[in-house]
Amino acid sequence: MSTKPRQFASIDELQTYLLSYAKERDWEQFHAPKNLVMALSVEVAELTEHFQWLSEEQSKTLGPDKLAEVTAEMADVFMYLARLAQVLDVDILAACAAKSEDNEQRYPPDKVRGSAKKYSEY
Ligand SMILES: [Mg+2]
Repeated sequence: MSTKPRQFASIDELQTYLLSYAKERDWEQFHAPKNLVMALSVEVAELTEHFQWLSEEQSKTLGPDKLAEVTAEMADVFMYLARLAQVLDVDILAACAAKSEDNEQRYPPDKVRGSAKKYSEY
């Protein structure tokens, strides 16, 4: 018997799953935006911990075991962010589209190429 690995085709599909996961466990009561942001922050810290003390070079060449751990933390971060967007009724892809336009305005390529300065420093 083979089981097909689970796949999510869209953020909507992931969010539908996350809601049912929470409902089945009666965890919606814990999913206030404040709590989700705190959980998200913890997961970002767990992701960060994998890179703490690595050189830049080491961070580019993670071994397969380390990469698997990093991948799992990235999924935790993404799922909490997706759930936060759902609870706040935020269209996260629309927000990314709007923010990407802002970023292009703030950082015109001809002005900032090769520089890591913040837009307010130009
Ligand atoms: Mg985690």
